[in-house]
Amino acid sequence: MRRFDKSFTQQEPLPEEAIEAAVEVMRSGRLHRYNLADGEKGETALFEKAFAEQLGVPYALACASGGYSLQLALRACGIEQGDAVLCNAFTLSPVPGSIHAAGGRAVLVDILDDTTVDPMDLAEAARETEARFFLLSHMRGHIGDMEAIMAVCETHGITLIEDCAHTMGAAYAGRPSGTFGKAGCFSTQTYKHLNSGEGGVLTTGDPEVMRRAVMLSGSYMLFDRHLAAPDPESYGDVRLMTPNMSGRMDNLRAAVLRPQLAELQRRKRRWNALYHRLETRLEGLHPVRLIRRHEKEEFVGSSLQFLLPTLSHDQIARFVSGCEARGIPLKWYGKPLPEDYTSRYDSWGYLGTNRPLPNADRLLATLCDLRLPLTFDNEDCDFIAQLMSDAMEQATDKTNTP
Ligand SMILES: *Cc1c(COP(=O)(O)O)cnc(C)c1O
Repeated sequence: MRRFDKSFTQQEPLPEEAIEAAVEVMRSGRLHRYNLADGEKGETALFEKAFAEQLGVPYALACASGGYSLQLALRACGIEQGDAVLCNAFTLSPVPGSIHAAGGRAVLVDILDDTTVDPMDLAEAARETEARFFLLSHMRGHIGDMEAIMAVCETHGITLIEDCAHTMGAAYAGRPSGTFGKAGCFSTQTYKHLNSGEGGVLTTGDPEVMRRAVMLSGSYMLFDRHLAAPDPESYGDVRLMTPNMSGRMDNLRAAVLRPQLAELQRRKRRWNALYHRLETRLEGLHPVRLIRRHEKEEFVGSSLQFLLPTLSHDQIARFVSGCEARGIPLKWYGKPLPEDYTSRYDSWGYLGTNRPLPNADRLLATLCDLRLPLTFDNEDCDFIAQLMSDAMEQATDKTNTP
C-alpha cells in the first residue's frame, strides 16, 4: 500500500533570528519578564507592544497559555462564581475548562452547518440562562456571522470574549478577529500560528479590563514595566483589590515570538496556499463535503474540515482507518471515544446535562479534520488527496462490507 511518510505534527524550525534572540536572553540570565537591566524594556513587553500594534488595539498582555488568557479575560471582565457563560458546542476542551476554572458554568450553544455558532440558538440560550458572557471560539478558523452574533450580544447585554486560537491574523469584513469582543484571546502553543511551545496573549481596548488582567496575571506592583497597558498612574484601587493568579509569560518565549510575529502574514499566505491546494483536490472526492466559508471571512489556514454526510458510521470508521494505514492521521469527531484534540462536548462530563444540541450531534457524527504543517508542500497535498481517495474507494466498496 502506498503511504505518506512525513509527520503531520512536524513544525518548521524557529527562524534563526528567534534562536539568536533566545540565546541572548539566556546569556543575560534575565528570563523573568520584570527582571530588567537599567533602561531595558524586556522581550515580553516588546512582544506585547508589537502584538497590539499589529492587531490595531491599545493593549496586549502575554501570558502562560491560550487557555489561561481565556480565564484571565473572564475574570478581568467580571465573572462571578456560578455565572452562566455561553460557548459554542463545537470547541476545544480548554474553552469549557477555562470557564470552569474561572468559576463559571459553561452553557453550550448549537452550531450551523458551517460549524459556526447558531445566532438563533445563542439568543435562545441567552433567554434561558440570562448569561452575561459569551466565550466565542472561532473554531478551526471558521468565523460565523459576526453581525448577527454581535446583535444578539447587544440585545441581551452579553459581554463577548473571542477565542482566536485558530484565527490569529484572520479578519471578518476587514476587521481583525479578536477586535469584535471586549477581549481577544490568542494561543502561541506549538500547533497554532506562532510557536513558543506554550503561551497566550490577551488583547483589549478597555483600560479597566487591561488593568485587572495585568494584576491578575501576576504583575506584583510592576505594572509600570508594560508597554501596551494603561498608564501606571491609573491603577488606583485595582492594584490593591485584584488577586495575583500567577500566569506570566517569560522573556525567553517572548524572544522567540517577536521575530515570528513579523512573519505572520507570510505564514498566512503559505498556509492558505497549502489548504487551498488540498481543498481543491478534495472537492472532487465523493462524498466529501467541505465546510463553506462566510464570504466576509478573511481566512488564515489552521486546519481543514469536511463532512461525510452520506456515509454510515462503519464506512467512516473504515475510511479513517484506511487513511491512518496510509500515514494520514485524520481526526473524526464521530469516534465513540475522544482521542487527541477531537474532544466532543459529551466528553466534558463535568458540565452535567447539556441543552439539546441537535445540529452539533448530527454534524459532529460525520465531521473530519486534518491539519497541515508548513513543512509540507503542494506535492504533499496532492499525494495526501490521492491516498484519501484510495482510502475512500476501499471504505465504500460494496464488496467490502463485513
Ligand atoms: C489551543 C486552543 C486553546 C487553548 O490554547 P492553549 O495555548 O493550548 O491553552 C483554546 N481554544 C482553542 C479553540 C484552541 O484550539
